[in-house]
Amino acid sequence: MTWTMAAPGVLFRRYPQDDITITVIRGTRGLLLVDTGSSPADAALIHSDLEPLGALLCVVNTHAHYDHTFGNQHFAADSLRVPIYGHHLLPAHLVEYEARRLAAWRADTSTEPDRDWRDVVITPPTALIRERTWIDLGDRSVELIPLEPGHTDGDLVLRVPVLDDGSGDTWIVGDVMEEPGPPMYGSGCFPIRWPETLSRLLDEVGERDVILPGHGVPVSRDFGVAQLAVLAATADNIRRHHAAGHDIEQTLGVTEEWAYSPAALELAVRRGFEELDRERE
Ligand SMILES: [Zn+2]
Repeated sequence: MTWTMAAPGVLFRRYPQDDITITVIRGTRGLLLVDTGSSPADAALIHSDLEPLGALLCVVNTHAHYDHTFGNQHFAADSLRVPIYGHHLLPAHLVEYEARRLAAWRADTSTEPDRDWRDVVITPPTALIRERTWIDLGDRSVELIPLEPGHTDGDLVLRVPVLDDGSGDTWIVGDVMEEPGPPMYGSGCFPIRWPETLSRLLDEVGERDVILPGHGVPVSRDFGVAQLAVLAATADNIRRHHAAGHDIEQTLGVTEEWAYSPAALELAVRRGFEELDRERE
């Protein structure tokens, strides 16, 4: 496996650990790395794989989930001190969900027997993003766009404008979209608000643009529109069952109307009901 070009100066590489897709953007000032893997060892491997491409200038986290942030400590170490950018709500998610997840995995190693979580020190981004921000890479700039709640409430996407006018922009979207399967409802997800957030994002994406999800291969805007339909149908189902006063078990019992398996939906329905309960208050 090696780096593959998604667009001029935008390279991605898939790693077997969590099947994560790591992206790097190359400018004359250095490299911008997107996401850090699920451990300091993953991050050290990614970092050594970057060496042929140039010097690392900065890191961006697309969201807080462990497979995207648990390598942060490698880059934040005193010996490197590479700036790490992330959504301003990302640190709170790390405390509320990822720290608990890490503690649970450490307490019961049988749940993740192939992994060693002892070395992980949860490390938040060093530069928090509240509004659209540009990062100057020298011959090009990259826009950081913090999103409204969706996959989490700390999702941030990157837009890499095209260098010449031969192709479209490149979007690096974390897990707001996924390939090959539909997006996952993970810890801290917002199943009701997610479709609106993705819809607004896709409004900005052009027909010729390339989208790099946090897992899988580059996709097109059309692929995103199809995922939006799945997310919207799921949100509609959750809304309908909530309005009918069903509990989670009753809701998941009607399997034929869902695009997901009941096991994958349990968290989506629970979180969706919580969102709808808050709307009523
Ligand atoms: Zn995720």
